[in-house]
Amino acid sequence: MTKLNQLQTIINEQHLDAAYISNPMTINYLTGFYSDPVERVLALIIFSDHEPFLFAPALEVEAIKGTGWSFPVYGYLDHEHPFDLIADHVHQLAGNPVNWGIEKGSLTVDRLQSLEQVFPDAHFNTDLTPTIEKMRMIKSEDEIAKLNEAGKWADFAFEVGFNAVEVGKSEQAIAADLEYALKQHGINKMSFDTLIQAGPHAAEPHGATSGNKVKENELVLFDLGTIFEGYISDASRTIAVGSLNEKQKDIYQVCLEAQLTAQAAAKPGITAAELDKVARDIITKAGYGEYFIHRLGHGMGSSEHEFPSIMEGNDLVLEPGMCFSIEPGIYIPGFAGVRIEDCVHITTTGCEPFTHTSKELQTFPK
Ligand code: MN
Ligand code: MN
Repeated sequence: MTKLNQLQTIINEQHLDAAYISNPMTINYLTGFYSDPVERVLALIIFSDHEPFLFAPALEVEAIKGTGWSFPVYGYLDHEHPFDLIADHVHQLAGNPVNWGIEKGSLTVDRLQSLEQVFPDAHFNTDLTPTIEKMRMIKSEDEIAKLNEAGKWADFAFEVGFNAVEVGKSEQAIAADLEYALKQHGINKMSFDTLIQAGPHAAEPHGATSGNKVKENELVLFDLGTIFEGYISDASRTIAVGSLNEKQKDIYQVCLEAQLTAQAAAKPGITAAELDKVARDIITKAGYGEYFIHRLGHGMGSSEHEFPSIMEGNDLVLEPGMCFSIEPGIYIPGFAGVRIEDCVHITTTGCEPFTHTSKELQTFPK
């Protein structure tokens, strides 16, 4: 069954007549077509008992046809009123649907009011956002194959990036080197801004790659990912430049133990909260608990942040096909930061990572 059929079944189960899908990530998930139309209107209309259609800016129509979309696609020009046209197409195809599902997590109030105006007898009360998030949480084999391919390119980026490290070179210059190499191999887009942070700068986990230069005898943190056919990778490694003191080595080894132990514990049946605790207990016992200031991981797939969230309080039981990061970190202000991250998918017996770059402490330049 296609994902679109699955959602149509759910719409029927919820006694809805139609659904207005407007989140570009959801449209990508259901149709294989991705575009962020910004201020223009892109919508997927699904009916309980008629074929769906896509409604898009005219300039996107050819691209949609090129993806193999086999149902109608209707375009509109910038001077036309998109919601009047949507209503015309809906009436032609499916009469006058009354109960609609919408994505409350992303539909703007302005657009909801436009829908209410063109469908005055309809109700837009049912939120499909949780349903869709749940569907997206369990990945198919095809999705996992794409995530593996995105992971391979992250491994390649680490290799190039580590070898580009030199004392006196800026974080930005190293990031430029690895992204240039990826582009030469046809990987055009990172899944998020490449993060390279050297020395004490790495103690700001939400900081940015900067002009800060690599110095002798410090830790350098890399966090990066690529996009392959709409699916992302996300991985972190921390390497040594020169020789490290005992405390630098200690935070690295504690973080590594937390990461490896959690990755070994990730399997069907454990809850997200329990998995977070596996890693957190190791870091806390070593005395660094106050420096692990974020959840253990986040779900990922066609975007960097989806479900499940691997954190305290989430009693969700892990199941095969769930994909998420395992990324403990230790950030000591003014001193150093370490994060080691692999994204994994749950299998029937455990988990498999999408990235395979060694997690043992490595020193560069070699
Ligand atoms: Mn990351
Ligand atoms: Mn991550």
